[in-house]
Amino acid sequence: MLFASLSPLFAANWTVRAQPARMVNGAPVLFQVKPPAPLESLKATWLEHELSFSFDPKSRTWFALAGINIDTAPGQYALELKGETAAGKTPAKQISFTSRFNIKRGRYPKIQVALNVESKFTEPTPEQQKEIAEAQEIKKDYLNRVTPDREWSGSFTAPAEAEISDVFGSQRIFNGTTSSPHLGLDFRVPSGTPVAAMNSGTVLLARPLFFEGNFVVLDHGQGFLTLYMHLSEFKVKEGDQVKRGEIIGLSGGTGRATGPHLHVAVRWQGTYLDPSGLMRLRLP
Ligand SMILES: [Zn+2]
Repeated sequence: MLFASLSPLFAANWTVRAQPARMVNGAPVLFQVKPPAPLESLKATWLEHELSFSFDPKSRTWFALAGINIDTAPGQYALELKGETAAGKTPAKQISFTSRFNIKRGRYPKIQVALNVESKFTEPTPEQQKEIAEAQEIKKDYLNRVTPDREWSGSFTAPAEAEISDVFGSQRIFNGTTSSPHLGLDFRVPSGTPVAAMNSGTVLLARPLFFEGNFVVLDHGQGFLTLYMHLSEFKVKEGDQVKRGEIIGLSGGTGRATGPHLHVAVRWQGTYLDPSGLMRLRLP
């Protein structure tokens, strides 16, 4: 549902669409905008994030991929668009428009799963605590990075063809202790299964970390990262450029894993989003 608030000039001619039409907390969202005049650039503010739009000449629309934090409360939120018109007969000028969207509460499974993991993951020794702290520093540094240029192009595809064994947002218990919601998607794959890049990007991390095991992070630009955990083998190194579908590693059960599986996560500007929602989006 779109509620357009009209600004004096051009207002009637802005078209703003969101995909999916039903927005929930935790979901990625694609905004597509047809402005009333040819633009040089289009930016927006959405849930305190800055969005930078790209122009798709085929559909003559501007698009930006964004998301909604899983902690965002249901309600109405504004997409504040700011464009700069192309200079021609008249000089360039700023035009703006505000669209409002309803965010509903996502239906995430509340089923609590008792998982048995090695005690080092729930009661780490001081040495392991040091390792965990170092890994946290690395993640704090790398996982919040926003490279301005867009490297992703077209839809995000599955990293493996396999059954889903756990969805995004479910609640889990480790050895009787409730942990935070599951912020990724689990694929049931045996060890040694090739893992494919979900879209084009640059390898930001390819190294072992305490909980993640052998861990690959791809930077797709504009703050979009995809994360691949518990790998048995790396097929890329940090700094490599990869294309969608390229094999980045082999699945495994390294780190905090109850058995071999592939945990995939999507991060956008410091917030985790539902990978299955991202894969459902038809992107330009
Ligand atoms: Zn997982």
